[in-house]
Amino acid sequence: MSEAILSARDLVKHYPIKDGVLRHTVGQVHAVDGVDIDLAAGETLGVVGESGCGKSTLGRLLMCLEKPTAGSLMFEGEDVLTKGAAELRRLRRNVQIVFQDPYTSLNPRKTVGDIVAEPFRIHPEVVPRQGVRRRVQELLDLVGLSPEHINRYPHQFSGGQRQRIGVARGIALNPKVLICDEPVSALDVSVQAQVVNLLERLQRDLGLAYVFIAHDLAVVRHISSRVAVMYLGKIVEEGGEEQIYERPTHPYTQALLSAVPVPDPSLRGHREQIVLTGDVPSPANPPSGCRFHTRCWMAQPICSTDVPELIVRDDQMGGHVCACHFAALRSDSQKAETD
Ligand code: SF4
Repeated sequence: MSEAILSARDLVKHYPIKDGVLRHTVGQVHAVDGVDIDLAAGETLGVVGESGCGKSTLGRLLMCLEKPTAGSLMFEGEDVLTKGAAELRRLRRNVQIVFQDPYTSLNPRKTVGDIVAEPFRIHPEVVPRQGVRRRVQELLDLVGLSPEHINRYPHQFSGGQRQRIGVARGIALNPKVLICDEPVSALDVSVQAQVVNLLERLQRDLGLAYVFIAHDLAVVRHISSRVAVMYLGKIVEEGGEEQIYERPTHPYTQALLSAVPVPDPSLRGHREQIVLTGDVPSPANPPSGCRFHTRCWMAQPICSTDVPELIVRDDQMGGHVCACHFAALRSDSQKAETD
């Protein structure tokens, strides 16, 4: 993998659970629990997992919208969390976010011009005041909206157009990284494709790197070069798009992929659907050992006592890692099947 512009090591975010009149801390929600991330310039890292697995919290940590409980965050080799306000400001200028819901993430009382210009008020050094209106019009054009609509309000746009406004605001400061937090899941399928195409074009034209957070595995496969699978606050498998989708090694990844509908029955082959039983355990009380052991059909006694580390299964395509005690056995049998 080429050199990372954004890296996280052992990133942790716990939220205290308060109770009683005196609001004593009675526990911790383990939203993100020891995550490593490396994002290279211009690449897309997809992050997938069920609701509540910590992927959106991870996105907010990567741009310091929230302070991690522990761990380190490096932008272009500089430690953002220990270097003080100037480095944090540089991160926030270069790492921007597009939120999930275009209906609630735009202030209905502000015009599109004001919404897209918001980042320039926080970072006035990027565009001089007299040039802001012109720059906003350029940004609207760049995302496929008419610059003449600069004085309109969000309710005068469709869902897809509102997400384009969110993207325009996200790229206003010429960031190097855009965190896309479920950017298309609130949109109709036909509109989703248009927004994904827009993100791909902007990536080509502007050299942006994306962290693309989503639960739709088909969309993530389409846009990502690498994919990380999260379960209960941890990355359980990560690899190149082909490694994850064609040779998934972790039982959880296998289960997620088996649930993706295949439109053409002739392409379904011998793929069996793996139905996971039970709900996702509470992140306030995650299971011991492997966090997936309460739902894993391959679990053995060691799984409930020993935490599996992420082990390299394949060093091609930037590396394929998996956190399962039996990953080696499984990838050996996959190799035997393909030989
Ligand atoms: Fe399943 Fe055990 Fe592997 Fe966890 S470590 S995924 S419980 S087999």
